Amino acid sequence: MQRDMMVEWQLRRREVRDPRVLEAFLEVPRHEFVLPEHIAEAYEDHPLPIGEGQTISQPYMVAVMTEALQLTGRETVLEVGTGSGYQTAILARLAGHVYTIERHGSLSVRAQERLKHLGVANVTCFIGDGSQGYPEAAPFDAILVTAAAPSVPHILVHQLADNGRLVIPVGDMDSQELVQVWKHAGAVVQRTINYCRFVPLTGKYGWGGTHSA
Ligand code: SAM
Repeated sequence: MQRDMMVEWQLRRREVRDPRVLEAFLEVPRHEFVLPEHIAEAYEDHPLPIGEGQTISQPYMVAVMTEALQLTGRETVLEVGTGSGYQTAILARLAGHVYTIERHGSLSVRAQERLKHLGVANVTCFIGDGSQGYPEAAPFDAILVTAAAPSVPHILVHQLADNGRLVIPVGDMDSQELVQVWKHAGAVVQRTINYCRFVPLTGKYGWGGTHSA
C-alpha cells in the first residue's frame, strides 16, 4: 500500500523514529486531504497545491515537525496554518486537543469538512491571524507554525506553558531553518533542527507585520 511505502521510505529510513508518529502517519489517509486532481500523487515525496496559493507540506517535513513537538497524548496544541488539515489530523492522534488557525476561510472550511468526515473530534478550527497565537486557549504545551516567519514571534513563546515546545520555520522568503524553542522555568532555549522551505507566515507578527511582539 502507498501509505506503508511512504512511511517506510520517506520517514523511517530518514530517521523519523517516534513510533507514535510513525503510527499516526500509517493511520491518517493523506489522499483525503489533497485536491481531486492530485490524489494520484498524495503519497509522493513533495508538497502539493491545495488552493489559495498554499500547499500541503511534504510528508517528511510534517513528520519532522511533529516529532520535534515530543507529544505524549495529553497535550493542548496550537497549530498556526491549518492548510489542508492533514497535519491537524496527525496532531489530533498524538495530543489531547488541537486548536488550529487558518487565515484563508475557504481552506479552513474544507479542512473542517475533511476532519469531520474522518471523525476527528478533538480539534477546534478558527479562521484568523494565527501569527498572534490564540490567547483565549493559552497556555499551550506545544505550538506548531506551518508557515515561515521572519523571526520567532515572542507572543507565541509567551503562550507556551512551562516545558512547552514551539516549532517554527524562521528565515527569509526563499529558505528557512526549522527551529525548536523550549520554554523551561522561565528560560528559553532554541535549536535548529534542519533546513526547509515554507510559504510565508502573514499577519501581524509574520511578513508584512511588525516582525516582533
Ligand atoms: N500543515 C498544512 C497541511 O498539512 O496542509 C500545510 C500548511 S501550508 C504550508 C501553511 C498555511 O499557513 C497556509 O494554509 C497559509 O494560508 C497559512 N497561514 C499563513 N499565514 C498565516 C497566519 N498569519 N495565520 C493563519 N494561517 C496562516
